Amino acid sequence: NAPTRESIIETIKETIEKKSVELLHMQFVDLEGTLKHVTITAEQLGQAVNGETMFDGSSITGFTPINQSDLYLVPDITTFAVLPWTEEEGYSEARFLCSVKKPDGSDFEGDPRNVLKKTVKRAKDHGFSISVGPELEFFLFETDEYGLPTQRTQDVGGYFEPSPKDDGEKVRLAIYKALKMLGFTIEASHHEVAEGQHEINFKYADALASADAATTYKWVVKTVAKQFGLHATFMPKPLAGANGNGMHVNISLFNDEKQENSFYDDSDKLGLSSTAYSFIGGLIDNVKDFVAVTNPLVNSYKRLVPGYEAPCYIAWSASNRSALIRIPATRGPGTRVEIRCPDPSANPYLAFAVIAAAGIDGVERELAAPASVDADIFSMTPAEIEERGIDNLPTSLEQALDRFATGKIGEETLGEHAFNEYLKLKQGEWDEFRTTVHDWEISAYQSKF
Ligand code: GLN
Ligand code: MG
Ligand code: MG
Ligand code: MG
Repeated sequence: NAPTRESIIETIKETIEKKSVELLHMQFVDLEGTLKHVTITAEQLGQAVNGETMFDGSSITGFTPINQSDLYLVPDITTFAVLPWTEEEGYSEARFLCSVKKPDGSDFEGDPRNVLKKTVKRAKDHGFSISVGPELEFFLFETDEYGLPTQRTQDVGGYFEPSPKDDGEKVRLAIYKALKMLGFTIEASHHEVAEGQHEINFKYADALASADAATTYKWVVKTVAKQFGLHATFMPKPLAGANGNGMHVNISLFNDEKQENSFYDDSDKLGLSSTAYSFIGGLIDNVKDFVAVTNPLVNSYKRLVPGYEAPCYIAWSASNRSALIRIPATRGPGTRVEIRCPDPSANPYLAFAVIAAAGIDGVERELAAPASVDADIFSMTPAEIEERGIDNLPTSLEQALDRFATGKIGEETLGEHAFNEYLKLKQGEWDEFRTTVHDWEISAYQSKF
């Protein structure tokens, strides 16, 4: 039996009492997935849970014009959590993650959380719940005397390397403890391939809870790193010549009626159902139209190059880590598809929404998956790649935006408001990059020409 709203609010009141919570942070994300919050006092809990916290939407990226700027926060009461680093004798702070509504009480379409809720509803109409497990990688950089990030990584460890080379171990431990206190189930924590690079994995959940978790995780990682005098970054490719930061997204559909993973079929050679094959077909068919969301920065496309375990070709495989889509070996309830192009600078709400929408589009159209590619694509010649009909992912934000602007997934999934705002924001970003004279150009051209 799911707890009632009243009983959840009762438990929140007890926790506020017991832990002497004085301040409540009402959190939400802007169009880029950046966490925002306004802080109120615990005495205002009653008004807060009734959705009476108002804010100025015109100052939030991608939200409202100045003449219709009043918006309201509606906390998801299941996201209430005391912030571990604020707990001291007789004082602490807590947070809620919130959705956004308009003064007339309807959902605000520009709120990424509302966008994902719409996609979850679309899946429900087909009898599916969406399960998502993201893996977010990050770097720890030293800071300078002003506390600003340098390009010096905190350690020189490599993949799975223990301390003393892995100097990030103590930071990961502190992050682990904070996440655990915030209700996360942590499954693994390890040093990643690049120097100063790390990954901490948490248990999969339904799409909305997972996007909330990804948002909280990024905030906790940055906050705890700062306590160590370090700067954590989820920038996709902070160092040329080293692995970048990925956000692999493990996703599956759960059949609500049969109460089972709908990607699993033990009678199939690979143990995959026709739903799974169609979902893969949908991802492959639509991926170029949605990478502007899963890989949102100019810098994202510097990660999607050969040689760094990040995909650049559109293919799938049951084993191959050079492919865009991999099917991890687990079968039964854990059967899932892993899409490897997204990076952690993506807004997780929008990213999970477009990925799910692309897969569901394949299921609706009963698409077949193309032939899988089990050989290492990075070692194939261009002729071989062409012969197998393997296409490329967009290689720049500009290419990605061209597809996003004209494809159907973006507009259908984000809805008119968020779609237009996103396009405007990202086209502006591309234009700024395009018209900037970069250090590389100066060093390559100024003396020579
Ligand atoms: N860092 C790699 C990426 O960019 C992934 C490495 C891994 O997790 N195996 O996606
Ligand atoms: Mg991983
Ligand atoms: Mg990894
Ligand atoms: Mg992975």
